[in-house]
Amino acid sequence: MLRIGHGYDVHAFAEGRKLILGGVDIAYERGLDGHSDADVLAHALMDALLGAMRADDIGQLFPDTDPAYKGADSLKLLSEVAALARKQGFTILDVDCTVAAQAPKLAPHRQAMRENLAQAMGLDVSQVGVKATTTERLGFVGRKEGIAAWSVALLDDGCC
Ligand code: MG
Repeated sequence: MLRIGHGYDVHAFAEGRKLILGGVDIAYERGLDGHSDADVLAHALMDALLGAMRADDIGQLFPDTDPAYKGADSLKLLSEVAALARKQGFTILDVDCTVAAQAPKLAPHRQAMRENLAQAMGLDVSQVGVKATTTERLGFVGRKEGIAAWSVALLDDGCC
Protein backbone atom coordinates (compact mmCIF):
# COMPACT_ATOMS: atom_id res chain seq x y z
CA MET A 1 0.00 0.00 0.00
CA LEU A 2 1.10 3.55 -0.67
CA ARG A 3 1.45 5.88 2.30
CA ILE A 4 1.77 9.64 2.23
CA GLY A 5 3.35 11.86 4.82
CA HIS A 6 3.51 15.59 5.31
CA GLY A 7 6.03 17.65 7.25
CA TYR A 8 6.30 21.31 8.24
CA ASP A 9 9.01 23.17 10.10
CA VAL A 10 10.04 26.72 10.93
CA HIS A 11 13.27 28.13 12.32
CA ALA A 12 13.99 31.74 13.26
CA PHE A 13 17.00 33.63 11.95
CA ALA A 14 19.77 34.32 14.45
CA GLU A 15 23.08 36.16 14.36
CA GLY A 16 26.30 34.20 14.34
CA ARG A 17 24.81 31.01 12.89
CA LYS A 18 25.48 29.24 9.60
CA LEU A 19 22.60 29.00 7.14
CA ILE A 20 22.30 25.32 6.24
CA LEU A 21 19.45 24.30 3.92
CA GLY A 22 19.24 20.85 2.42
CA GLY A 23 22.80 20.35 3.63
CA VAL A 24 24.04 23.33 1.60
CA ASP A 25 26.04 25.94 3.52
CA ILE A 26 24.61 29.17 2.06
CA ALA A 27 26.48 32.46 2.41
CA TYR A 28 24.17 34.91 4.21
CA GLU A 29 24.38 37.52 6.96
CA ARG A 30 22.46 35.30 9.40
CA GLY A 31 21.70 31.63 9.92
CA LEU A 32 18.86 29.71 11.53
CA ASP A 33 18.60 29.20 15.26
CA GLY A 34 18.22 25.70 16.64
CA HIS A 35 19.66 22.90 18.74
CA SER A 36 20.93 21.03 15.67
CA ASP A 37 22.28 22.69 12.52
CA ALA A 38 18.68 23.98 12.13
CA ASP A 39 18.31 22.65 8.57
CA VAL A 40 14.61 23.45 8.35
CA LEU A 41 14.29 21.74 4.95
CA ALA A 42 15.77 18.46 6.14
CA HIS A 43 13.57 18.64 9.26
CA ALA A 44 10.34 19.06 7.27
CA LEU A 45 11.40 16.18 5.03
CA MET A 46 12.13 13.89 7.99
CA ASP A 47 8.69 14.59 9.43
CA ALA A 48 7.10 13.80 6.05
CA LEU A 49 8.90 10.43 5.97
CA LEU A 50 8.02 9.68 9.60
CA GLY A 51 4.42 10.72 8.95
CA ALA A 52 4.13 8.22 6.08
CA MET A 53 5.67 5.58 8.37
CA ARG A 54 3.13 6.49 11.12
CA ALA A 55 6.15 6.73 13.39
CA ASP A 56 7.21 9.19 16.11
CA ASP A 57 7.94 12.69 14.80
CA ILE A 58 11.45 14.17 14.83
CA GLY A 59 10.82 15.99 18.10
CA GLN A 60 10.32 12.61 19.77
CA LEU A 61 12.98 10.77 17.78
CA PHE A 62 15.74 13.39 18.13
CA PRO A 63 14.76 15.51 21.17
CA ASP A 64 16.29 18.99 21.31
CA THR A 65 16.88 18.43 25.02
CA ASP A 66 19.34 15.63 24.16
CA PRO A 67 22.94 16.92 24.05
CA ALA A 68 23.70 14.19 21.47
CA TYR A 69 21.86 16.30 18.87
CA LYS A 70 23.52 19.63 19.70
CA GLY A 71 24.86 20.98 16.42
CA ALA A 72 23.80 17.75 14.73
CA ASP A 73 24.19 17.37 10.97
CA SER A 74 20.56 17.06 9.90
CA LEU A 75 21.51 15.14 6.75
CA LYS A 76 22.91 12.41 9.01
CA LEU A 77 19.60 12.35 10.91
CA LEU A 78 17.79 12.17 7.56
CA SER A 79 19.93 9.16 6.63
CA GLU A 80 18.93 7.54 9.94
CA VAL A 81 15.25 8.13 9.22
CA ALA A 82 15.59 6.69 5.70
CA ALA A 83 17.41 3.65 7.13
CA LEU A 84 14.66 3.21 9.73
CA ALA A 85 12.05 3.33 6.95
CA ARG A 86 13.88 0.62 4.98
CA LYS A 87 14.30 -1.49 8.12
CA GLN A 88 10.54 -1.33 8.66
CA GLY A 89 9.90 -2.52 5.08
CA PHE A 90 9.12 0.83 3.49
CA THR A 91 10.40 1.99 0.11
CA ILE A 92 10.70 5.73 -0.34
CA LEU A 93 9.23 6.41 -3.78
CA ASP A 94 9.15 10.17 -4.09
CA VAL A 95 9.47 13.33 -2.02
CA ASP A 96 8.85 16.99 -2.76
CA CYS A 97 9.65 20.05 -0.66
CA THR A 98 9.01 23.78 -0.64
CA VAL A 99 11.16 26.29 1.23
CA ALA A 100 9.75 29.76 1.91
CA ALA A 101 12.41 32.42 2.44
CA GLN A 102 12.26 36.12 1.63
CA ALA A 103 16.07 36.14 1.55
CA PRO A 104 18.58 34.95 0.52
CA LYS A 105 17.83 33.77 -3.00
CA LEU A 106 17.65 29.97 -2.92
CA ALA A 107 17.13 29.13 -6.59
CA PRO A 108 20.89 28.83 -7.29
CA HIS A 109 21.12 26.17 -4.55
CA ARG A 110 18.11 24.02 -5.44
CA GLN A 111 20.04 21.43 -7.41
CA ALA A 112 22.71 21.01 -4.71
CA MET A 113 19.95 20.62 -2.10
CA ARG A 114 18.23 17.94 -4.19
CA GLU A 115 21.50 16.06 -4.62
CA ASN A 116 22.33 16.23 -0.90
CA LEU A 117 18.88 15.11 0.23
CA ALA A 118 18.76 12.31 -2.37
CA GLN A 119 22.19 11.06 -1.32
CA ALA A 120 21.25 11.14 2.38
CA MET A 121 18.15 9.01 1.69
CA GLY A 122 19.84 6.69 -0.81
CA LEU A 123 17.57 7.92 -3.61
CA ASP A 124 18.10 9.11 -7.15
CA VAL A 125 17.98 12.88 -7.51
CA SER A 126 14.95 12.43 -9.83
CA GLN A 127 12.98 11.23 -6.77
CA VAL A 128 13.57 14.45 -4.84
CA GLY A 129 11.95 17.80 -5.58
CA VAL A 130 12.96 21.09 -3.93
CA LYS A 131 11.27 24.38 -4.72
CA ALA A 132 11.87 27.83 -3.27
CA THR A 133 9.50 30.75 -2.88
CA THR A 134 9.27 34.08 -1.13
CA THR A 135 6.04 35.11 0.60
CA GLU A 136 5.83 38.48 -1.16
CA ARG A 137 7.09 40.15 2.04
CA LEU A 138 4.06 38.91 4.00
CA GLY A 139 4.18 37.30 7.43
CA PHE A 140 7.21 36.20 9.46
CA VAL A 141 8.96 34.86 6.39
CA GLY A 142 8.32 38.09 4.50
CA ARG A 143 9.72 40.11 7.42
CA LYS A 144 12.86 37.93 7.24
CA GLU A 145 12.32 36.63 10.77
CA GLY A 146 12.79 33.03 9.73
CA ILE A 147 12.40 30.33 7.10
CA ALA A 148 9.59 27.79 6.72
CA ALA A 149 9.63 24.47 4.88
CA TRP A 150 7.02 21.93 3.85
CA SER A 151 7.49 18.45 2.48
CA VAL A 152 5.46 15.53 1.25
CA ALA A 153 6.68 11.96 0.93
CA LEU A 154 5.21 8.95 -0.87
CA LEU A 155 6.23 5.56 0.52
CA ASP A 156 5.35 1.98 -0.35
CA ASP A 157 4.77 0.05 2.90
CA GLY A 158 5.71 -3.27 1.29
CA CYS A 159 2.33 -4.86 2.08
CA CYS A 160 -0.20 -5.88 -0.57
MG1 MG B 1 13.35 21.91 13.14
